[in-house]
Amino acid sequence: MNVFRRSAFFGHSNSIFGAPYAMPLVAGIVALSMTAICTFILYQSRLDAMEHAVDTSRDVALLAEHDLVRNFELYALSLQAVVEGLGDPELMAASPRVRKAALFDKAASATYLGSILVLDAHGKITLTAGAENPVDDSYSDRDFFKAHQESANLGLYVGDPYVSPRHGDSMSIPLSRRISGADGSFAGIVLIDIQLEYFQKLFSELSLGTDGSLALIRKDGTMVMRQPYDAQVIGRNIRSASTFKQFMTAPEGSFSDTSYIDGTRRLYFFKSLPNLPFIIMVAKAHSDIYAVWRQRTLLIASVMGALTLAFIGLSCAFGVQLKRKMRAESELAMLARTDGLTGLSNRRKLDEILDQEWRRARRHQRALSFLFVDIDCFKAYNDSYGHQAGDTVLATVAKCIGNHIRRPGDSAARYGGEEFLVVLPDTPLDGAQLIAETIRDAVCRLAIEHRESAFGHITVSIGCATWEPQQADADMATVIRAADEALYNAKMTGRNKVVLSARHRCGDRQAHG
Ligand code: GH3
Ligand code: MG
Ligand code: MG
Repeated sequence: MNVFRRSAFFGHSNSIFGAPYAMPLVAGIVALSMTAICTFILYQSRLDAMEHAVDTSRDVALLAEHDLVRNFELYALSLQAVVEGLGDPELMAASPRVRKAALFDKAASATYLGSILVLDAHGKITLTAGAENPVDDSYSDRDFFKAHQESANLGLYVGDPYVSPRHGDSMSIPLSRRISGADGSFAGIVLIDIQLEYFQKLFSELSLGTDGSLALIRKDGTMVMRQPYDAQVIGRNIRSASTFKQFMTAPEGSFSDTSYIDGTRRLYFFKSLPNLPFIIMVAKAHSDIYAVWRQRTLLIASVMGALTLAFIGLSCAFGVQLKRKMRAESELAMLARTDGLTGLSNRRKLDEILDQEWRRARRHQRALSFLFVDIDCFKAYNDSYGHQAGDTVLATVAKCIGNHIRRPGDSAARYGGEEFLVVLPDTPLDGAQLIAETIRDAVCRLAIEHRESAFGHITVSIGCATWEPQQADADMATVIRAADEALYNAKMTGRNKVVLSARHRCGDRQAHG
């Protein structure tokens, strides 16, 4: 059955559910966009933090480089002066005091200079810069001594860090130059011990955060100095470490890696010094680089999270309210067009249907039929069985009528009291008559007892009228009146029958119920 037009009903239902769900959906999209924008900004600021760390590492490396280059120039000059002095026969013939003053004069100004020694071809000390007594020590097994012994062209040589016998427990970096005889033969070396303190002092002045690290590494991988200082690490060769392998790939660069010494993930900036056999490495811990960024991200993420949740929550609540309101409105609208007792369309809805179908029939030039259905002797039924039983019968008959109109365009409405109007679009008179007969018969078969009726049970009389396209000048009221007149004729001629409008000049149909 279709009490309401199906398409209209479902069309309305879409608008009920569409808007409330759209609300959280739009809120979700807005929240998602906001989250995406925030994530992008935070990601950018993370990249900025890394870029900034590379810049500051480069600055630190430059500062260290300047200091190292300046001091090593001085040390190299001192060594050169001694080598040249030793080759001067006049100077070597002078008194020990004059000779010492002339040879070691320049070296006196260099800071952190441990000692300056002249060793003969056997590694024995022949001259010292200080006033101290020469220690009876042989340097012949030292790496720097052997290196000069084997090669005449080393120039300035930086040896492995070692504990100099002249400075107690403290470590030194040996800086040396070869002394060659007149025939080019090996005649010993001049040696300067640079105390490790020099590098410690230099590195401690450069701040690198709590987990930062700074190192001076000889180009063959020997660790000369590392901040934070660890005596175990000094002198160790790190050439097999992944970080050192990267230092060898370019004169300068940066990368992130995990330290083989302490397992901390760091950003490494390295620079290979062009005129010294050193690589400066500046390493900043990722935890330090991202510390501020992490704090800011945490704050922004929590605020954004709370705002997003609140926003989505409010939107959902609003959506639910809106849905309730729309559903209530829709129910009200439906109730306003429904007859409470029978569930069929009421007069208000009927008027809309009539108007719509009448215009449609004329527009498409299709037949439009009306059935006036009236319960027979209903007053008597009420009087006999009571008003409440009458109501039940009304509802049952209405349901029966609804069940027997099956096409989507057909409609049934309570016209008033115990009268119903069935509208059958696109239905000629014979089709309408067939449906009327089916309804009449179905009501009979309900077999609702009615002792006051001549038939012994509830029956209906039905008047039929049809508008045909050839009745161009007929109006709707006339056609409905014709159906009403047909109903009147059915009542006058015995009830429980279907009567066609006299305008069609068709015969009545008498029921046998
Ligand atoms: P007829 O066969 O000529 O149609 O006789 P009738 O008694 O059915 O017609 P009449 O117009 O004399 O009486 C209609 C009755 O329908 C009067 C009223 O008591 C009853 N009626 C109208 N509306 C309702 C209703 O909502 N509930 C009930 N129980 N009865 C109703
Ligand atoms: Mg009546
Ligand atoms: Mg009646």
